[in-house]
Amino acid sequence: MTNQDKQVVLVTGGSRGIGSSICSMLAENNYFVICNYNNSKTDAEALASQYDNMVTKQFDVSSFEDTTAAIKEIENNYGPVSVLINNAGITKDRFIHKMSLIEWDDVLKANLYSAFNCTRSILPNMRDRNFGRIICLSSVNALKGQVGQANYCASKSALSGFIKAIALENASKNITANLVAPGYIDTDMTKNIAKEITDDIKTKIPMNRFGKPNEIAKTILFLVDEATSYITGETISINGGMYMN
Ligand code: NAP
Repeated sequence: MTNQDKQVVLVTGGSRGIGSSICSMLAENNYFVICNYNNSKTDAEALASQYDNMVTKQFDVSSFEDTTAAIKEIENNYGPVSVLINNAGITKDRFIHKMSLIEWDDVLKANLYSAFNCTRSILPNMRDRNFGRIICLSSVNALKGQVGQANYCASKSALSGFIKAIALENASKNITANLVAPGYIDTDMTKNIAKEITDDIKTKIPMNRFGKPNEIAKTILFLVDEATSYITGETISINGGMYMN
């Protein structure tokens, strides 16, 4: 498959949840989508099989070596990536006084180091071409904190400084960098939260429901548009009115 002269988009963690919805939304809007996955090969391939402008690519975004090698291959095969969506993420929740170093490291590597790994590999080509869109997925919990999530909140709030620095360094190159901060969205990440906790969370969401993955994907579609060239270094919250910044 070739990129058919479409803009090449890399969506990390495109196999499930919000990432899968972003892949579909961008493929349906004429982008050439690279759907990255780590473990969920069957899900990623089932998704890509629905589109003639989507391919899958396995790599672990926490690994600098894996990511660098994979992105080199992607760009050799399909051309330079002009839109990067750093979506892959995990949780390993535990109160901080009981959290292991592994739980801390794993979450920082998957959620924060991953953004460095991908961005570092892709930016030189974007700068050469004077165009790029970089979006990282943050979280309402990065903005307000959450019990049991010191690792997750630290990883996601660090993305805020990361994206602002990228926005400043690359503004003159027509490369924008923004954060999208979802509230609670119906995906595998939230489905195992105990019902009494989700019921309590819903009482704190003015819209009284969790969001849907395509409500995030639609905002991403807006931000990656060539015409949305004057929005950079920003955070867009999508949380049903839960927390207004
Ligand atoms: P999800 O349903 O659990 O899916 C996570 C995705 O990330 C999967 O496709 C998974 O791929 C991928 N992934 C995880 N570690 C990876 C790695 N090391 N390398 C490559 N891919 C990896 O999560 P989600 O709810 O869609 O969340 C997507 C993003 O939105 C995350 O950054 C999350 O923190 C953020 N977010 C979610 C919510 C929410 O309520 N759901 C709220 C705020 C922010 P494999 O299955 O292939 O391993």
